[in-house]
Formats: sequence, C-alpha cells, structure tokens
Amino acid sequence: MNKVTLMTPGPTEVSKEVLSAMAKPITNPDLDRDFFDFYKSLCDKFNRLVSHEGDSLILSGEGILGLEAACASLIETNDRVLCIENGIFGHGFGDFVDIYGGEKVYFHGNKRRGIDLNELENFLEKDNDFKVATLVHCETPSGITNDIEGICKLLNKYDIISVVDAVSSAGGELVLVDKWGIDILIVGSQKCLSAPPGLTPISISSRANKKMRNRKESIKSFYCNLLIWDNWYKEGFPYTQPVSNLYALDKALDIALERDNLYIEHKKIGEALRYAIEKSELELYPQDSYSNTVTTIIKPENVNFDRLFEYTIKNGIMIAGAFAELEGKVIRIGHMGMGCCKNMVYEALRLIREGLNEQGVIIGNIEDGFLNELESL
Ligand SMILES: *Cc1c(COP(=O)(O)O)cnc(C)c1O
Repeated sequence: MNKVTLMTPGPTEVSKEVLSAMAKPITNPDLDRDFFDFYKSLCDKFNRLVSHEGDSLILSGEGILGLEAACASLIETNDRVLCIENGIFGHGFGDFVDIYGGEKVYFHGNKRRGIDLNELENFLEKDNDFKVATLVHCETPSGITNDIEGICKLLNKYDIISVVDAVSSAGGELVLVDKWGIDILIVGSQKCLSAPPGLTPISISSRANKKMRNRKESIKSFYCNLLIWDNWYKEGFPYTQPVSNLYALDKALDIALERDNLYIEHKKIGEALRYAIEKSELELYPQDSYSNTVTTIIKPENVNFDRLFEYTIKNGIMIAGAFAELEGKVIRIGHMGMGCCKNMVYEALRLIREGLNEQGVIIGNIEDGFLNELESL
C-alpha cells in the first residue's frame, strides 16, 4: 500500500523524527534507573503542555483507558455522577459510570452546539449533589469544542470533581489544568500530539487523589486502578512499560512544546477552513463552538461516503466519516498536530471537492478559499 497522508481526527500523521525515536534500543524499564528518570521527565513535559503542577501519569493504553481508569478509580457504588454531554463521547461516559456502580445523571446539551453555561448553571442550582462530573473538551465526531474553563468553574462552585476528556484537544487548544480547576485531564498520544496510538497522558489533582484514597470500597479493577501507580518512582512500575511508544511520545512532546504559536496556528487553520466551507455550498455540522482541531461537514445527500473516501485515498490522503449516530452523515477533516498544516489541509480540501464533483456535486473552489482566508488572518 502506498503511503497515505492521514488527515483523520486521530490517529494523525507521525513525523519521521518521532518514528525514529521508536527505533532506539530497548531497555529493561523495571530495572534501569535511568528509565525511571526518563519517565518522570516525560510526565513533566506533559505537565508543561497542560499547565499542571502535581501528579500525572502516562498510561499504557489508548485514550479510552484513561476515561475508564478515571471512572473506575473515582466512582463508588451509588455515587451520583453528572455526565455532561452534547455528543457521542460525552454520552459514552455514562456507560463507564454504570459499570463502576455509580448513579449517572445526564445533562443533555444540543448536539450541534457547545454546552450552554447558563443552562448548566440553572441545572446545578437545582441539583448539585454530585461527587463527580464527566465532560468532553472536543467532541471529535461532531467537531465541537466545549468551554471546559466555564464548565469547571461551575463544577468547582459545588465541589464536584471533574473528569475531562481532552483526548482530541490538548496540544491543539489551550488547556490550563490548574488554573481552570480540572481534576483529571485525559489526553491521547495519537491526536494533537501526533505520536503513535497507544498512550494516555493523564493529570490528577490532589482533590481527585484524596477521593480515591478515602474510598470505602476497593477499586474494582487492576489495570484501571490509578492507585497501583503509588510510589512508582521508588517502588517500580505496576507493569512493564511500552518503552518504544514512550520514546516516541517524548519526541512528540518536545516538538509540540517547541512549536511557537501552537494554539494560534490551530485556530487560524480551523478558522480559514470553516470560512471556506461556509462560503461554499457545503454546511458545517456544528452551529457554534467550532473545534480548531477537527472540522465536521454535513455530507451532501446522494453522496456515497465510501466512494468519496476511496477517491481521496487513491490520491494520497485519508479523511474520515464518523460513527454511531453520525455514521454516514458527515465528512471529517482532522487538522491537529502534524495535520495543522496549510499544504495538507489544502490538499484534503482539493480532493474532497474533486471527489464530490466526481459524484455530481459541484462546489466552489474550497481549497483556494481556505488559502486566501488563511493568508488574510
Ligand atoms: C479519539 C478519542 C478518544 C479515544 O477513542 P478511540 O475511539 O478509541 O480513538 C476518546 N475521546 C475523544 C474525544 C476522542 O477524540
């Protein structure tokens, strides 16, 4: 298979530098003290990225592991948990709450808009007896970024512990963990960080730590139990670490931390892309709170997504559709991490336009619209 450039909203393209880091010799991570220091420095780099001072871990598993581990470690039987949702990932948190015996209560937002802070405020005024709340920064399938700063401010008023899925936003959108009072932040290696899939950086506040430690019930998991990491620096890792993936993440974090104007670049690319779509015959799925890491476009009727997908693949770029209730309804372009790149977005737009054209849907020149707008920003 020819090399295809990934413009999917994760996994994203991985640079040669990051791939080369995986080719470094393997050590024994349980015995090599230098590796302990390396792992510690990796956590420090992650902390720097998300402005956190305190505990963090790099879990050996894809982002979902972080979501489940946060729920498993925090929730006890009958704990009331508020699941703030306006999309597929926000809704999915409720399943983990069920598994670990919590009592889930949904706050439903509009699926095409960001969570409305006034509505949430009114909701919480009437009912705020929650131990934990779950929320999503960027709803990747719909391309919506929620105001987690505003939401966490409301949650903190009632001392509710926040679990924030920032898998597809951290590294592309500004996240200030400590300033915004986020208790657990979950990030993915394969999205904005443009590292290979398989790792979940996670930050843990002292309040979340306290809740885990003061549990009456034991945590009903081993792999998802965040406390098995206690004193890892002195006593060793709870299981053998995926050395090569961690080397790759280290390099990817260096690249992200060195990139000047990381968030401004993502914002500009996102804005220019949306401008081009809005000026065309196509329609964006979100109606506000647009993500700067992924753009979701409503698929024109009568367009066969698989055929469009094949067209773009054949020409060297992979774009994405979506799943669950959005399956077959939208076209998505990831523009996060390495994908936050003028030329790559230009090519993706050109191929989408051509692919639609091939199916009889004629639209204006979105790629030039994008480029012109980007240059004016
Ligand atoms: C990618 C992603 C995850 C991880 O889920 P996968 O479907 O396994 O990739 C979790 N949350 C969000 C918001 C994501 O974008």
